[in-house]
Amino acid sequence: MPKISAAKGIIINDSRGEKTIEVALLSGDIEGKASIPSGKSRGKMEAKTVPVERALENLDRFMRAASGRTFDSMREIDNFLIELDGTEDKRNLGANLTLAVSIAFSRLLSKEKGIPLHELLRNESAVAAPSFPRLFINIINGGLHVNASLNPLPFQEQLIIPKTSSPEGALKSAFSFIESLKGVLSPRGEGDRFGDEGGFVVSGLNPELGLELLDETRRIHDGEVDFGIDAASSSLWNGKDKVYEWRESRWNGDELLEVYKWISERYNLLSIEDPFDEEREEEWRKLMRWLGEKNSGLWVIGDDLTVTSAKKIREMAKVGAANGVIIKPNQRGTVSETIAAADLARQFGWKVIVSHRSGETDDDFIADLAYGIGADGLKAGSPLQQERLVKYKRLIQIEKSLKNESKLE
Ligand code: PEP
Ligand code: MG
Repeated sequence: MPKISAAKGIIINDSRGEKTIEVALLSGDIEGKASIPSGKSRGKMEAKTVPVERALENLDRFMRAASGRTFDSMREIDNFLIELDGTEDKRNLGANLTLAVSIAFSRLLSKEKGIPLHELLRNESAVAAPSFPRLFINIINGGLHVNASLNPLPFQEQLIIPKTSSPEGALKSAFSFIESLKGVLSPRGEGDRFGDEGGFVVSGLNPELGLELLDETRRIHDGEVDFGIDAASSSLWNGKDKVYEWRESRWNGDELLEVYKWISERYNLLSIEDPFDEEREEEWRKLMRWLGEKNSGLWVIGDDLTVTSAKKIREMAKVGAANGVIIKPNQRGTVSETIAAADLARQFGWKVIVSHRSGETDDDFIADLAYGIGADGLKAGSPLQQERLVKYKRLIQIEKSLKNESKLE
């Protein structure tokens, strides 16, 4: 089993041009690599990163401590990282460093065991069987993910979710939807500017406008898609005045609730992520109560609310604040803790959506994770941006490899 013989860390740039780290671990001549994304609309309780230069110094520190040791499982290496860091939020070693080591090691281990990465991850999880997630594709960007001078929409993400569970079919459907959407945006003089996740920029203050344009496109698009939003409301929340605000628009919690009720019915939304600020639990519960009364199947998804933390997921499930969760490995900092958070969410009957970050690299780990743990969704941005496309392509590669296998049987 892997004994890490050497480690190399380098500084690279992410899709926003910001510095991040790539780590390669060697066990003999077997190599495992990983690079780390970063978020812009972050939850307060996310694990902490350290500056890239310090992360690389910490890689040396890890290597000195790990010298001569073998690690037989993800749990072993991750517990070692957690102990070496010694804090709740990875602020010593940095969650960027611990996650890079954890993911790189998972690739080493899968190679040594001779099994695909998704199978290794599945074995770490309580899930009975892997399955393909639906693709959650953010094609109109807004909020903090767009340059403020472009007067972006208040909600950070307006997503299409192709109905097919085949990744290849879903990606095809997404590309054809994007072509149709260009036709809808072009008469408005839009469709040639993009946000951080590769989605189009639409200017305007009306929170409904992005969905209205998607709906217009859906009428001319050949193929079935659902819609969702990520309101990323913690970035709209003004704690001093106790209102949600975007430029000159302001909504109190009840007014925003009415917006969600209206748009979820008008556009038959599948999901709403972070509808309210991460500390306004009572507002979340009001939305959940409304779902109960309506017998609605809407997915109410926590991101900043739950920060891939088993502790937060448990607390929020107990008070009935959501019925689904975003799983982002770098919110926690190790592979095992990420999978444990997803497993716990499932125990509460929650939906699980594995997600990228707004500043991405070409690492496609989250595709194996989403398939391996049988996630309900994979959210990885617009396929017009290479760093996002590689995640969808990896899922398609898994899909194809399984088909070939079954042909051989
Ligand atoms: C999100 O909020 O879901 C997201 C992907 O954005 P960020 O990475 O900026 O948190
Ligand atoms: Mg989010």
